[in-house]
Amino acid sequence: MDHLIDDNDRLKPCPFCGAEAEIITLEGETDEPSIGAQCVQCTSSACGAASGLIYPLMDDVTHLLIERWNKRHNA
Ligand SMILES: [Zn+2]
Repeated sequence: MDHLIDDNDRLKPCPFCGAEAEIITLEGETDEPSIGAQCVQCTSSACGAASGLIYPLMDDVTHLLIERWNKRHNA
């Protein structure tokens, strides 16, 4: 398990264009329901690939975001 966690500490490059990916936190209008949601997004503006949103309610979701992104990469 420890090794798996280590592997999931890094975001893999975008599966579509190979650019770096980063975790972003959405900001927007006050009414915006997606406020505070986080997702992994490709840093290439021409690509714009992004993972599904995760709402960090109680815990740090960084690992979950990375895990999901990396799984998509391998799919
Ligand atoms: Zn990309």
